[in-house]
Amino acid sequence: MFNKVLIKGQILGQVREFYYEKEYQARVAPHYQCLMWIANAPVAGKSRAEDVVRFIDERVTCNIPSEDTCLELHEIVTRYQLHKCSNYCKKTRKCSKNLFVTKCKFGFPRPVSEKTVLKNVQQSMKAEKKIYHLKRSEEKVRVNDYDPLLLLLWKAILDVPFTSECSLALADYVSNYVTEAERGHMQDLCQDILDDRGIYSKLFRIG
Ligand SMILES: [Zn+2]
Repeated sequence: MFNKVLIKGQILGQVREFYYEKEYQARVAPHYQCLMWIANAPVAGKSRAEDVVRFIDERVTCNIPSEDTCLELHEIVTRYQLHKCSNYCKKTRKCSKNLFVTKCKFGFPRPVSEKTVLKNVQQSMKAEKKIYHLKRSEEKVRVNDYDPLLLLLWKAILDVPFTSECSLALADYVSNYVTEAERGHMQDLCQDILDDRGIYSKLFRIG
């Protein structure tokens, strides 16, 4: 499916480079972490913000389509895309001497936003957070972000975040998603892409 849909089909755009990793977690089906660099996508901080936002909005949504709009997509979204927090995703962090805060490591519930807006890119990447808030209403704060066509074909949980940068922050950000053994290779790959000034580097992470 990867080759057919993402490489040849270019659902998210022309894939210039990619990396994926199959992971197993206890008692659940395998899942894939996939990084894709999309050619000629806008770059946050360089391109106009509205171009970056349009690029995201054309590919990523958290909509829950009605049964009338698309019954199959409605069923897939309500069955697979609604995140329920568990011990696996909840992380407790010490904020001060007596204050502990528990948060979902996937950022649920995700913030309500009237439209898609870019955040501070460098700060977000350093904190390993998304560089934008996706347009989202109250009833969608637990929906994993997805591309509708990709989800229809994949028929399993999907999270499609976009990030975009032209600095080494990208290499650090990406390296956090790969295993220790692959880290050197991934950093070389990032550097090759960053060195190529003709094509800005972008990536989607699918996991
Ligand atoms: Zn959670």
